[in-house]
Amino acid sequence: MSFVRFPESVVSCRNLVGGEWVQPAEVPTQEVRSPYTGEVIGRVPLTTASGVAEAVEAAKVAAHDWGLTPLRERTQRLQTFRELLDTHLGRLANLAASEAGKTVAEARAGLLKGLEVCDFALSLQNLDGGASMEVSRGVTCEYRRAPLGVVAGITPFNFPAMVPLWLFPIAVTLGNAFILKPSEKVPLTACALGELMVAAGFPPGVFSVVHGAKAAVDALVEHPDVKALAFVGSSPVARHLYAEGSRHGKRVLALGGAKNHLIIVPDADPELTPQAVVDSFTGCAGQRCMAASVLLAVGDVQPLVDDIVRRASRLEVGPGMGALIDRGAVDRLETAIAKAKADGARVLLDGRGARPPGEQYANGHWLGPTVLDGVRPDMEAARRELFGPVLSIVRVTTLSAALKVENASPYGNAVSIFTTRGAVAQAVVEGAKAGMVGVNVGVPVPREPFSFGGTGESKFGHGDITGPSSLDFWSHLKKVTRKWSAGTDGSWMS
Ligand code: NAD
Repeated sequence: MSFVRFPESVVSCRNLVGGEWVQPAEVPTQEVRSPYTGEVIGRVPLTTASGVAEAVEAAKVAAHDWGLTPLRERTQRLQTFRELLDTHLGRLANLAASEAGKTVAEARAGLLKGLEVCDFALSLQNLDGGASMEVSRGVTCEYRRAPLGVVAGITPFNFPAMVPLWLFPIAVTLGNAFILKPSEKVPLTACALGELMVAAGFPPGVFSVVHGAKAAVDALVEHPDVKALAFVGSSPVARHLYAEGSRHGKRVLALGGAKNHLIIVPDADPELTPQAVVDSFTGCAGQRCMAASVLLAVGDVQPLVDDIVRRASRLEVGPGMGALIDRGAVDRLETAIAKAKADGARVLLDGRGARPPGEQYANGHWLGPTVLDGVRPDMEAARRELFGPVLSIVRVTTLSAALKVENASPYGNAVSIFTTRGAVAQAVVEGAKAGMVGVNVGVPVPREPFSFGGTGESKFGHGDITGPSSLDFWSHLKKVTRKWSAGTDGSWMS
């Protein structure tokens, strides 16, 4: 088991504005406590509109020259950042784990995904050369990708490194100045990423960090010089930001929460399937937007269900599984389990009250793996995002009934089918609503350059947050028509 290395002293987070680390004037600060121990490991300023305005001003100045810098030169800075990220992977994984309650292995995997996004952004210099065509005699049309200017990313607590890394490597490579507003629950990793961006030699103001909560987000949404907003977090906030950002004339892509379905059928591989299901709903203590949440058990799959419960019951709560972010999350989940039971679900495995041995974890936030059976599709446990290590089993008799439940979910992030038959898998690939579909994969996160993004209330806006469509989000296509011919071509161009 890999234990988490905490920062050696309490970290006072500051904003990164114009290349300098600054403390915003006269704003309250908030303690950052590790979910593992409840110990204070940092302090974060809650920036208000004036602090946001300073950051936007510095970013606007930087965006001008950065946008005119050739793509190849911008890419060189990102290459240096990528090397630094790789060098500091272990330190960053520990930092992210200590503030988010993730396991170090999970935090490390998030950083590796970040490196993948950097690789995608680095490839743009070779692959995204625009297009040019002679459309008429002596006349060419050309596509040029132009930056938007100042753009911002607002990120959640559960992936302190990975989600910011989905955003800024692509946004800055395309010539934008990027402002990161990380979750106030996990600001330490964002500061570490900022230090690496400064060390990589990005010009001051090309990458900024503004800490805070709602007030800082509102100020970014309302600021006329912020041209695009990417948000990742819960669905109610995503919906709100999408509406408000659009109302303020911005381009917005807002990823929300999830209620992911795993479908198991009687021919599912008996070795692979139960472990994949358990890893999916318990990994990172269930605090992943791609975590399994509903198990759609088709037909007689009792041996698989028994094995899932047996394997989950053997897991040890603690640093090997991850902690819940705060006391509020524990209370919310315990209430949801009690409600499911009152609604008629059977609790096959009850994680309430579980805690790891060791005095240091006494004030941590824990919930053991929990399995609810006999959940009806209309119950809250089947429909609402719980965001913890809780699996709700919905029994159905046919695959089409399973797909009907999945299709009726307001969310649409991920679904996975466990089967040894290609035709069954194909029916799910074709019939599921979710944006990311897995076949015998518990957490069907696409690898880059295949993009990340759901449907329904899991995503408000057009395109995906990574991959090819992210290029169109973070830039606009300028169309240039040139005529150098002195000829007398009588086309419409004359
Ligand atoms: P959250 O919505 O509470 O917070 C996300 C961000 O929004 C934070 O930076 C926070 O400061 C800010 N914020 C919170 N309330 C706000 C408000 N009222 N107005 C403006 N800004 C506000 O989400 P969280 O609890 O940090 O993260 C967990 C959620 O994120 C889960 O729902 C999870 O499914 C989702 N998530 C989704 C994806 C995805 O790819 N779809 C990825 C990771 C997490």
